[in-house]
Amino acid sequence: GAPVPRPESTRVMVVANQKGGVGKTTSTVNVAAALAQLGLQVLVVDLDPQGNASTALNIEHRRGVASTYDLLVDGAAIEEVEQPCPDQERLWVVPATIDLAGAEIELVSVVAREGRLRKAIHAHPRVGHAAEVGDDRLDYVLVDCPPSLGLLTLNALVAGDEMLIPIQAEYYALEGLGQLLETVEMVKAHLNQQLQVSTILVTMYDGRTRLAAGVAEEVREHFGEQVLRTMIPRSVRVSEAPSYGQTVMTYDPGSPGALSYLEAAREIASQGAPR
Ligand code: ADP
Ligand code: MG
Repeated sequence: GAPVPRPESTRVMVVANQKGGVGKTTSTVNVAAALAQLGLQVLVVDLDPQGNASTALNIEHRRGVASTYDLLVDGAAIEEVEQPCPDQERLWVVPATIDLAGAEIELVSVVAREGRLRKAIHAHPRVGHAAEVGDDRLDYVLVDCPPSLGLLTLNALVAGDEMLIPIQAEYYALEGLGQLLETVEMVKAHLNQQLQVSTILVTMYDGRTRLAAGVAEEVREHFGEQVLRTMIPRSVRVSEAPSYGQTVMTYDPGSPGALSYLEAAREIASQGAPR
């Protein structure tokens, strides 16, 4: 396909939705791998103590491995914590270990606790504008959030310029979004003016059901332009890839799931950062 443009500045995208099981992790790792396949430089930050994104990207994340915990709690340098993805060029990962589960509480007594991730990401020598960082810069940083609106997700919302919200094409899909959007407004008002919900991705779409079509339509009515044209189909290949320590992008590159994630990544890249 046609080449995709590099953004002028690193785009920090937060993948969030406080509902579990809507496709946050699956979308983070596959959009990241797809962007890397398209030639872009990508960093994934795993912010879920479960470490599912780390698993899917084949990154060691047992206790003791340098991880997101060290960034947030000990102020470790991000470039010393990231690891290259063994299966995909141009892709790096800051893994999450189970220690991160304690960070939510340990951070309570830390100064500027909600700004720790922002500080870590912005101190990355490869994050910033082309004019300062040069050709070696990261094009995208994708942050995979846990299924809650606690201090970890808050750190991500403060760190990000944009949000990518995956919405599962299921009954009750829009339930809970009000609370998420209120949190976004609170963050914009007090902590991070830049934050924008730039991208909505409909996941686990089953084209054979009227329910899925109805949900997709409702999401489009509600969010309009922000909704990617590409929807991710429900597919067994997508769900079995992580058990092989792979994204569907490497596990089965020709499958409908992989092709959809590639198309979604193209849309994200060609749309560019919101103004
Ligand atoms: P979250 O991170 O929001 O909790 P996940 O990405 O872990 O959600 O997805 C939840 C479950 O749904 C996982 O078992 C995952 O493999 C599965 N899944 C995600 N996307 C798809 C898809 N397009 N087709 C089939 N299964 C999917
Ligand atoms: Mg997840």
